Order: sequence, then structure tokens, then C-alpha cells
Amino acid sequence: MTTNTPGWQPPHCPNPQCQFHQQVSDAWRYKRKGYFTRRYSPKRIQRFTCLECGRNFSTQTFSTTYWQKRPDLMARLFMEIVGSMCNRQMARAKDIAPRTVQHQVSRLGRHCLLFHARQLHQIGPTPEIVVDGFETFEWSQYFPFHHNLAVDPATGYFLYHTESPLRRKGRMTEHQKLRRAELEALLGRPDPQAIRKGMAELLDVATQGAEKIVIRSDDHPAYPRAMKLLTCEIEHRVTPGKKHRDQHNSLWEVNLLDLLIRHSTAAHKRETIAWAKRRQASAEKLAVLQVWRNNIKRRWENGEAVTPAMLRGAVNQVLTVQDILRERIFRTRTELPECWNRYYERGVVTAALPVNLRHELKYAF
Ligand SMILES: [Zn+2]
Repeated sequence: MTTNTPGWQPPHCPNPQCQFHQQVSDAWRYKRKGYFTRRYSPKRIQRFTCLECGRNFSTQTFSTTYWQKRPDLMARLFMEIVGSMCNRQMARAKDIAPRTVQHQVSRLGRHCLLFHARQLHQIGPTPEIVVDGFETFEWSQYFPFHHNLAVDPATGYFLYHTESPLRRKGRMTEHQKLRRAELEALLGRPDPQAIRKGMAELLDVATQGAEKIVIRSDDHPAYPRAMKLLTCEIEHRVTPGKKHRDQHNSLWEVNLLDLLIRHSTAAHKRETIAWAKRRQASAEKLAVLQVWRNNIKRRWENGEAVTPAMLRGAVNQVLTVQDILRERIFRTRTELPECWNRYYERGVVTAALPVNLRHELKYAF
């Protein structure tokens, strides 16, 4: 049932200040209050009034397309993000402004952050995880960063991600070394502790609820330091990063996710011209990929139709984009880890950009 199915009933008051916003209760009273019409189908939208706080709302208040001029775009954009199309290609294919695509992708990202956070809460603790840093860059190759990833090796479930900005390293020409010095004088150097901090944030969430956990990773020196603050009992299994990375490698599940991200996202293909311009936007797209990977994409392409979310008992069928976008998830009713709250509010700053727009819209949640 979608919000536009006749007979749909609002589950709670949408007003965060109302006592019936958090609590879903039979004591809540509301009444129907006529209709308004709009250009897109269904054209007639049911309105309601909360009899507790007096707030007016409609079926649209509970829809993922609330306050959108083009409610038809979201589902298509969702599949194009994980189908390796870049923003401008998506805009051209639909004859819309690139700016519209940016806004919609960002909003999809926020919806997926909430969707995943809710599901993560539902599946409970994971006894064994594999973690790794996925290397990519924002703005130009002078600004590399890691998306830190955590996966459940038993089911392939993509548990969580954070990000760490890095200093450019590796082989450089004399000119490149000078340019790096110039940029660092102007914009400052990235935090040398960023990997430890990003990994600590990742582990804090990925180990939540577990009393005992096995963590598999490569031999990055920052990882043991990132584990210091964890309160659960840890067994850290290290596989040297140089070891051949095939199915027999114990880090295989996270390498597989690395491959899937590179294969499915335009920004992370090798030698692309569609690289990420902002770490913030890259995290939003990764949130969309995460929900797709866990709920829509099968665990194996051939054979039984199961998804990682099914294997973790979160859902009992392969979901569609329509299932994911069925209903708006209220930020005020969903708890987010600190790092993801930063993503939700667009608080990640790209040093090379003079202006970093934050998310402060009231209706385009
Ligand atoms: Zn109310």
C-alpha cells in the first residue's frame, strides 16, 4: 500500500512537536479535511488535520516525493546512480537541469541513510566483520580520500561506511610536488589522524550491540589504534595487504564490495572523467548503493533469489525501488550515528571549494 492507495491511513502525526509524532497510538485522533489538486497523477490529494495539535497535512507529507515538482524522477534516478551514470548524463537523458539531479541525488542519499540506519537497528549485532579503506578522490587527484567500509562476510551485508580525507602520496613529478605544496599552503593539510578517526567511527557503529567480535582487515597501522576505544571483546585477524586478493583471501567479501562500487558508480571507475567533486556527495551516492546492494541486488547473480538483507532476516523478499521509496522516513523519528548525521546535514567540507552548501531545507527533507 502506498500513501496514494485509497483508504491509506497516516501512522502518526507529522509534526515533531506533537505528542503523537513519536508514539504510534490508538489514542491519536485526526480527521479528513478535503482535497487539494496538483498537476501530477494522482491529481487529487487527501488532506487531514491532527486533532491533538491542529497541524494540517496530506498523504504527500508521508511520501518520499513530498514538496517535489517532479515526483516521477526519483525511482529512475535511483537505478541510474547504481547503474554507473554520472549526474550530467542523468540530466541529459531526462532533459532536466544538472542542478535538479544534484538535489534529487542528495535527497535520495538522505532517504537511504535513514532507510539503512533503521534496518541496521533491526538486524542486531554481527559476530564477524571485514573492514577496508576504499581509495578514491574528490575535486582533483590532489585530494584523495577513503570511504571506510564494513561488511558482514557471512551474508555480504554492507554494514556501514564513513570517510577519511588523505594527503596525496605515491609517485609524483617535480611539478606535482610543487603544486601539492602550493595547495597545502593555501588550504591546509588533511588531518594525519583521519584514517584512525574514520575507522574508529566505522567500528563504533559496525560493532554495536556485540559483546564479542572478530574483525578482519589488512595490516594498515592505524587500524589497531582505531580499535582501542571499543568496549566489546575483539579478535583482530590481519591479512597482509600485499597478499593476492582473490576468493581465497579472507578479505574477499570487502574486496568484492570494492569491485561492486567501482563497477556500479561512475565516479569510482578507473581513469574516469566523472570523478567525485565532493566527498559529501560521494557519501550520499554510496548510501544509495548500500541500500541497493543489501535489498535489491541479489547476493549471487545466478541461482536463488536472495539478498543480503534477506539473509540477515530484515526482510523476507527481494525489494524493488518502489518498495524502498514507498514511504517517507522522518529524520525526527530515526536515530542516526554521529557521522551519518553529518552526512544528512551535508556537513562534510571539501577544502578546495569556497562554498559548501549545507542541508537546511525544511520541506525537501
Ligand atoms: Zn499532531
